[in-house]
Amino acid sequence: MSTLTSAGMVNAYVPGASSRIPEEDRAMIERRAALLGPAYRLFYEEPVHLVRGEGVHLYDGDGNAYLDVYNNVASLGHGHPAVVEAVSRQWAVLNTHTRYLHDAILAYAERLSATFPAPLSQVMLTCTGSEANDLAYRIAKHRTGGTGVIVTSLAYHGVTDAVSQFSPSLGASVPLGAHVRTVPAPDLYRRNTDDLGRDFADDVRAALADMRASGIRPAMMICDTIFSSDGVLADPPGFLAEAVAVVREAGALFVADEVQPGFGRTGDAMWGFERHGILPDMVSLGKPMGNGQPVAGLVLQPDVVADFGAKVRYFNTYGGNPVSCAAGMAVLDVIARENLIQNARNTGAYFLERLRTFAECYAAVGDVRGRGLFIGVEIVRDRASKEPDAALAGHLVNALRRRRVLISASGPHANILKIRPPIVFSRENVDTFMDALEGVAAE
Ligand code: PMP
Repeated sequence: MSTLTSAGMVNAYVPGASSRIPEEDRAMIERRAALLGPAYRLFYEEPVHLVRGEGVHLYDGDGNAYLDVYNNVASLGHGHPAVVEAVSRQWAVLNTHTRYLHDAILAYAERLSATFPAPLSQVMLTCTGSEANDLAYRIAKHRTGGTGVIVTSLAYHGVTDAVSQFSPSLGASVPLGAHVRTVPAPDLYRRNTDDLGRDFADDVRAALADMRASGIRPAMMICDTIFSSDGVLADPPGFLAEAVAVVREAGALFVADEVQPGFGRTGDAMWGFERHGILPDMVSLGKPMGNGQPVAGLVLQPDVVADFGAKVRYFNTYGGNPVSCAAGMAVLDVIARENLIQNARNTGAYFLERLRTFAECYAAVGDVRGRGLFIGVEIVRDRASKEPDAALAGHLVNALRRRRVLISASGPHANILKIRPPIVFSRENVDTFMDALEGVAAE
């Protein structure tokens, strides 16, 4: 049996759902609950206990290798030597904060901002994506005089009090703020439309009107530009453009949350928003930015932050420390040196092709979509009705896990396989994944 959600989280471990958990891991789960309390969630019916990682593989204590087809943090692969070396070298020399002059943050900000179109040119560093989005919201409120936020119906933007209020994917127990409006996700598969961009813009117009009717002035719309938690929505390119124009006309800002698609994952460009031909006011970054070192931040248009910065001081003890900047710099070096954007594009195209071929003889696949190495596979009971099959999606995720291949699921119906490997993933790695998937489907 597949128990797919726990307090709204897809693919969460549910105590008691599996009798196959080794005694040692069972004891560890109990110890976690005793020590860490009740709020943490593990993945999978049978949680994975890892001790080491290298490249696209993770290893358990018995030395078994797991193929990591889900990790967008260790995007260059686990323990990438260039990042390990850069971090170790900087640690041995100095680690301080942004109240002293230090070149690392300047060299990194120069290098990072050069990957953005003008005038996105200023960089503020944090430690987590949540903090970056929290800061974006503070700046948006200051700049616009409004408080209203528009997000998609299953968006996730982070864990601070302010940001959790515009992260509906956290579930009904985390209420949205009274100033927050959701719009249906721009889902080409489930919407009957010949112009997704126009429809999405209409939804945004309606949300703005509803806000105004409640006396709320809009501050920002924030979108994950690959709509990861909404179910991986990438096509058609450009569907965000009209909605962004509508938001600007209303005097609000547009924030691109690049925590998921950023740093080359979509294979088109460094940033997911570029696929939509739009220019955000602010861009939030995180996860793959330090390949595991906690580095996150905002890239901004100078006008947007000018008055905020003049009146509000910003200091984040760990944000922008030299060790994190060294990690960030090494990540940018490796993406360029190893041609990883191109690899995401080519390996991603091959991956999509293999999955589409697989779908021809596996009727439960309703849709295969995505871009680069960010792929969603809709599992349905019936292709004509598109009725979601969360139980089968959960079964596939857990059966793959038993074959030591790690993915997860997402989306409003918990039926979308989320496939998001490190961007160093090779065609051989795709073949290994497809062998496992075909094996599971044949069972
Ligand atoms: N935005 C998006 C789109 C995310 O996926 C996440 C993390 N899953 C965040 C923001 C928050 O990042 P963090 O966990 O580093 O706070």
